[in-house]
Amino acid sequence: MKRPFVKDQPKHGDQVLTCGHEERQGQHFWKCPGMVAAGPDGPVPVDWLTACDACALAATYNPHKIAWVNLATWQGDKPEVKTWP
Ligand SMILES: [Zn+2]
Repeated sequence: MKRPFVKDQPKHGDQVLTCGHEERQGQHFWKCPGMVAAGPDGPVPVDWLTACDACALAATYNPHKIAWVNLATWQGDKPEVKTWP
């Protein structure tokens, strides 16, 4: 039950919550309007959840089953994530 990757993805400057494997090729994205995460300086609006293929597959593509561990800022127009220090 492999799912195709989508073309719609975070844009430069979007806040993302990740599975912690941003360096892996092939990320899955879920848009999450209205979501807020705990950032280092207080609550941060989160635009997307992003998970690597392995985590997404292990969770049967259910974002509620994925452990979101890293708050990050998306940079560039290609899949590239800068994690917060
Ligand atoms: Zn992962």
